[in-house]
Amino acid sequence: MRPCRHFARLSAATLLFASAASIVAAGEPTIGRRPFGKTPDGTEVDLYTLTNSLGMQTSITNYGGIVVTLKVPDRNGNLDDVVLGYETLDEYLAGSPYFGAIIGRYGNRIGKGRFTLDGQEYVLAQNNGENHLHGGIKGFDKVVWNARGVIDDRGLALVLDYASGDGEEGYPGKLSVTVTYILPADENMLRIQYRATTDKPTVVNLTNHSYFNLAGQGEGDVLAHEMMISADRFTPVDEGLIPTGELRRVAGTPFDFNEPTAIGERIGADDEQLKFGGGYDHNWVLNRGDRPLTLAATVYEPAGGRLMHVLTAEPGIQFYSGNFLDGSNVGKGEKVYQHRFGFCLETQHFPDSPNKPEFPSTVLNPGDEYSSVTVYRFSTR
Ligand code: BGC
Repeated sequence: MRPCRHFARLSAATLLFASAASIVAAGEPTIGRRPFGKTPDGTEVDLYTLTNSLGMQTSITNYGGIVVTLKVPDRNGNLDDVVLGYETLDEYLAGSPYFGAIIGRYGNRIGKGRFTLDGQEYVLAQNNGENHLHGGIKGFDKVVWNARGVIDDRGLALVLDYASGDGEEGYPGKLSVTVTYILPADENMLRIQYRATTDKPTVVNLTNHSYFNLAGQGEGDVLAHEMMISADRFTPVDEGLIPTGELRRVAGTPFDFNEPTAIGERIGADDEQLKFGGGYDHNWVLNRGDRPLTLAATVYEPAGGRLMHVLTAEPGIQFYSGNFLDGSNVGKGEKVYQHRFGFCLETQHFPDSPNKPEFPSTVLNPGDEYSSVTVYRFSTR
């Protein structure tokens, strides 16, 4: 990819889509950049806006690699922002339930905040009850990444780099991470490429924590969205949401989403696993074919007709139905995010893998490269 020619300017097309909902119009693909604020230590942070030739647009900040907006057309060509988030950096700094962020070094939970690697025990923050969640106190969602925008024939990319120090948040090894967000020029999809290398054995599990609402952010709960997850098994959890180690069949349970089913249809069922999660907050074991990218999930919103496909190289996916949203987060356009106003589909290795040798390994050794891809593709029906 050659360096972006349109780097720091907003085109007319970009400005056209500045409002919350606008009609799609074709235009030249562009990347814009504007200041987004400063972190408490004075580091300046930017907001990058990528717009493809179909009018799909996303804005992403290099603070936490957060996807701040994602505007995609509905069946009538109306663009709406389909991810939850805030308008300003200060609001993200004041507290966010990981809206849109890159999660690392380890996405999801590690039981009791401990694991042993090559005979050495590592102690991590217990920031979720007695467990470790989403990389600790200051995970990759709260660091400033180096960013550069790139435009080439394939589309638009925002390349984010971060060097996580040896011992940061308790994890061993210096980890060099690159996360690339790609918006193809003429396809409505967001592709996320993850790469990492280490100088000592460590564990890595990177994901993105976007909360989607395909009716538009703030436009009600997601219970009517029809979810399909291509998985015959899931990993049941204990009360603290740590997998028991079992790979349980979904057949005959509220966890069977092999046929598209409204999220709300069985969420209130009398089921111990749903009680532990306060709804869906579980890892599904994806039915993987031979292809490097597997179709993990589809989600359809019947009113506006948006359809999202999620493809991934990962073995699992966390479907979280926004159970902890309670109206205390006021987001973009003063929208109040009530209970279940968004859902997450976090592609991942299974939670607590560092303590579960029977799960696919999350160990990264020096000389090897962690490499993973997830695609969120949008169409309408
Ligand atoms: C977890 C939830 C958690 C949420 C934080 C999700 O990935 O599975 O349990 O509450 O992140 O917002």
